[in-house]
Amino acid sequence: MQENITKLRRGRHFFAGPGPTNIPDSVLHAVAHYTVDFNAPDFMEVYQACVAGLKRVLRTEHELFLYAASGHGAWEATLQNLLSPGDRILMLESGYFSLGWAAMAKKFGLVVETVPADWRYGVHITALEAALRADTQQTIRAVCVVHNETSTGVVLPLPEIRAAMDTAGHPALLLVDTISSLASMDFRMDEWGVDATVGGSQKGLMLPTGISFTAVSPKAMAAHAKATLPRHYFDWSVMARRPHHGFVGTVPIAMFYGLQESLRLLEEEGLDAVFARHARLAEAVRRAVMAWTGNAGPEIYCLAPERRSNSVTAVFLPEGFDANAVRRIAYEQFNVALGGGLERLEGRVFRIGHLGDLNEPMVLGTLGAVEMSLKLAGVPVAGRGLNAALDFLTESAR
Ligand SMILES: *Cc1c(COP(=O)(O)O)cnc(C)c1O
Repeated sequence: MQENITKLRRGRHFFAGPGPTNIPDSVLHAVAHYTVDFNAPDFMEVYQACVAGLKRVLRTEHELFLYAASGHGAWEATLQNLLSPGDRILMLESGYFSLGWAAMAKKFGLVVETVPADWRYGVHITALEAALRADTQQTIRAVCVVHNETSTGVVLPLPEIRAAMDTAGHPALLLVDTISSLASMDFRMDEWGVDATVGGSQKGLMLPTGISFTAVSPKAMAAHAKATLPRHYFDWSVMARRPHHGFVGTVPIAMFYGLQESLRLLEEEGLDAVFARHARLAEAVRRAVMAWTGNAGPEIYCLAPERRSNSVTAVFLPEGFDANAVRRIAYEQFNVALGGGLERLEGRVFRIGHLGDLNEPMVLGTLGAVEMSLKLAGVPVAGRGLNAALDFLTESAR
């Protein structure tokens, strides 16, 4: 796609990837803030309001540590602060992002065991429970879960995962990556017994890429006190001792002005309404894909209806068709950016992001461009997906 970047493009660029996401105009204006002293009282007011607001979104009253980093930084921070070399952790396989988090953990000298899964479904909770029961010495220190696997569009049921850990009587910490679910789908850190929650700025929070964070339960803070993996920038103990704010280095000031505005937008709409809007728009996308499917057309990658993500849909192409060809047409001819397939799904799926600052016309515009692109790429398309989405959105708006 790089070679066509110099082509003239007119009209709105439709960004329909699953992250980063569209940034509301008011957030764009807010991040264009002049420099202030980040230790001065004026900024501290903004900073503290952001921390309090983010905790409300996380539905937690626990500690919160923020970093000037993308989500990968928060992954690192969370492992480094909670674990020691040689510790065993259990990763629930879900797709590209669970593989990435596991690969990072191995580089830090952790012993990573995996609960394997079919990517089109995600782990069976019984398999998790069996893995925990098999650990009779209870040496597994942490269970790591990607709540919403952005590469596949599969959501894992966190309350069931918590229940399986409790039923097995296993004391491991529960570490959850909510990078592509937070502020788009229901998540309740304290109620669901999550020990460490990883999040980032550029998905449901509708901000530029640049900050990520971990919320940490008291049980995890106790584990932190004994954890010996080397850490410096991300050290929670150092951060907790900072007098004004938690940053080891310069505070990314502009991001906090943006976060203050994105939190205002989320709370103005109300979190439950935000989740309902995501559910409605996601269902419209699914209706479109199901209409395209027919006997031999593209299909929703996730095979478990109750696990289909409300923030991203991976569309699985029939054998012999190239998902990147569809993406190229959408990008070059219609100025619409779709997400690509990751790892083993490269070329097999494209992904439609439907999270963040999004409404019905944006979704319909994207689906229209996708339908045209599928047809132009010669992919067999059974029905009129755009019409199916339109009908659903009309009915659900009554
Ligand atoms: C985007 C994403 C990440 C990686 O975050 P970066 O901000 O790109 O470093 C990790 N996990 C999930 C589930 C994601 O969607």
